[in-house]
Amino acid sequence: MEEWEDWHWQLRNRIYTLDQLKEVIRVTPEEEAAVSRTQGRLVMAIPPYWASLMDPEDPHCPIRRQAVPVSEEFNIREHDLRDPCGEDGDMPVHGLVHRYPDRVLFLVTEQCAMYCRHCTRRRLVGANHGLMNSYEPAFEYLRNHKEVRDVLISGGDPLMMTDVRLDKILVELRKIPHLEFIRIGSRTPVTMPQRVTEEFCAVLKKHKPIWMSLHFCHPKEVSGRLKTAMDMLAESGVPLGSQTVLLKGINDDPEVMKKLMHELLKVRVRPYYIYQCDPAQGISHFRTSVETGIKIMEALRGHTSGYAVPTFVIDGPGGGGKIPVAPNYVISYENGVMTLRNFRGEIYTYHEPQAGEEAFIPVLQTGGSAKRPHRVRKNGNGNGSGTANGNGFHGFQEYLP
Ligand SMILES: *Cc1c(COP(=O)(O)O)cnc(C)c1O
Repeated sequence: MEEWEDWHWQLRNRIYTLDQLKEVIRVTPEEEAAVSRTQGRLVMAIPPYWASLMDPEDPHCPIRRQAVPVSEEFNIREHDLRDPCGEDGDMPVHGLVHRYPDRVLFLVTEQCAMYCRHCTRRRLVGANHGLMNSYEPAFEYLRNHKEVRDVLISGGDPLMMTDVRLDKILVELRKIPHLEFIRIGSRTPVTMPQRVTEEFCAVLKKHKPIWMSLHFCHPKEVSGRLKTAMDMLAESGVPLGSQTVLLKGINDDPEVMKKLMHELLKVRVRPYYIYQCDPAQGISHFRTSVETGIKIMEALRGHTSGYAVPTFVIDGPGGGGKIPVAPNYVISYENGVMTLRNFRGEIYTYHEPQAGEEAFIPVLQTGGSAKRPHRVRKNGNGNGSGTANGNGFHGFQEYLP
């Protein structure tokens, strides 16, 4: 179908109403109550492409749950925040969040192709807050702030703008000599891959290098159509990263998350972050424990390709920025001796070099190729104290001349 491939058609034919929704899925009472009650809720909008991935019968379908509101969205908990990441307080110019020393988050639009039910920026998104009125104050700020070397263009979703408009933003940013790193944060290639056209890729190529951070939450999102879009971006020289929100009942399972990471690598997307779900208002039904996230990280590191292991972070509520949270692999660390466990739970000891305790013993030349001297402990007695040994490591004696 030719029109199916037209992203404007996908946008025009998004599902907004209960009646339209009933045409594609068997709507539950919770869904019906939420869709009917529009006041105070982030708007529903589902591109036909995304709807085609939804299970019409299963209300627990991960694709469906990210797109169809349920009545729990109206529950606001004690610690929920309107602006969970404290972005409004770090905006020197409307739409420009300058929190970290050398980089800014540039919110260029409130629009998205699909409104994710777990949206953390729901205070801004889907309505008009003037983000698109004028970018000139943001450009002026960036021109005057030479410490900024990195601009993350986000929103809303920058890909909701026309190629012409996006090109204009990139033209202005590229005129600012101290901006050395430009990336676009977008979910549109995932929710509506038809947006990734040759024309769009040409804009990215024109301003190369442009990096992209995409938002993926479930392996079902990596469809054949999605792969085509990723191929086009990758073949346009755009490095692709993914950001995943840890969501209860959707991906809070080590096997689901590992599968997602593997699917991403297959389409040349490097997992970048997993986020603990922010305490935004009305999304507590998507939140799970931090421990769940740590267990997922534990199940990834060592058990699969390092490229499939992103960083798990919590965005410090109120404006703390991204704080990494990881399983603890350090058992003890005292007097230059670190005891560690590996991904299998085996214990290893690492001795830091100690002043006065070491000497350089030059390695003799063998076969004409000069080797660098090895650092050897004077009282070296192998690979250290009683570690699990049996993985082919025989201490450094065998490396001595
Ligand atoms: C996430 C974020 C960035 C980018 O952070 P990286 O760790 O460099 O990806 C910049 N500014 C704000 C306000 C952010 O939330």
